[in-house]
Amino acid sequence: MNNMGKIFKQAKGFIFDLDGTLYLGDSLINGAERVVKKLRKSGRKVAFVSNKPIARRSTYAEKLRKLGIDCEESDVINSSLVLAQFIAANYPEHTVFPVAEQPVIDDLTELGIEVTEDPDTAQIVVVSWDRRFDYQKLHKAYKAAIQGALLIGTNPDRTCPMPDGDLPDAACMIAAVEACTERKVDPIVGKPSEIMLDEALKLVGLRADECVMVGDRVETDILMASRAGLLSVLVLSGVTKKEDLKHIAVKPDAVAESVKDFLTFI
Ligand SMILES: [Mg+2]
Repeated sequence: MNNMGKIFKQAKGFIFDLDGTLYLGDSLINGAERVVKKLRKSGRKVAFVSNKPIARRSTYAEKLRKLGIDCEESDVINSSLVLAQFIAANYPEHTVFPVAEQPVIDDLTELGIEVTEDPDTAQIVVVSWDRRFDYQKLHKAYKAAIQGALLIGTNPDRTCPMPDGDLPDAACMIAAVEACTERKVDPIVGKPSEIMLDEALKLVGLRADECVMVGDRVETDILMASRAGLLSVLVLSGVTKKEDLKHIAVKPDAVAESVKDFLTFI
């Protein structure tokens, strides 16, 4: 499974996941800033792609800069932005009921999408990570859905890795909405969706087969890479542990303890 030499010889672009890959909570993964710097210095393109929908991309860019990684806002995308772009491109006149936090609402309204609290007028229910999720929101989502609203999700992550224990993520709200409506939330725009991948490839301006996806979650980061023909490196600094490797369904091209291992190959 380990082809690190080959990967670094071949790849022109590196697409990095954030949580569990470049940082954990508020701490940088040791060596991550040196890895990004060296990659850029060697002429490779670098982009940052997060499924996390509870802040806007400007916040993630600022967080990376604070941790010592050079980052423009245009170097990073996350699932709330990609969701808003997807709805603006495909359903610009639709009204949205959000099961989501304020950053999702801000991304939608900034792109001209109308957001409503009224389930009877909503034509789309957006389902995201929502730390104020409650029965009333679920009831409204259900009411909108049975009247024919589309169900669109930000990201399918079950948990988000944190230093003091993982947090329940958007999959939990999606499961609740799917349970009562007996419908699928589809599409879910975040990784492993090709909707997210297409936006990520735009950031680096490269083809899929010229890029490496680096991430800590098999069913999002590695699956997206494998479906689309990117090389992939699974890092063990986030949600996936060494003992999980025997059971993983999609094999990455290489496994690293953390991105720090890249320093030898750049
Ligand atoms: Mg991650």
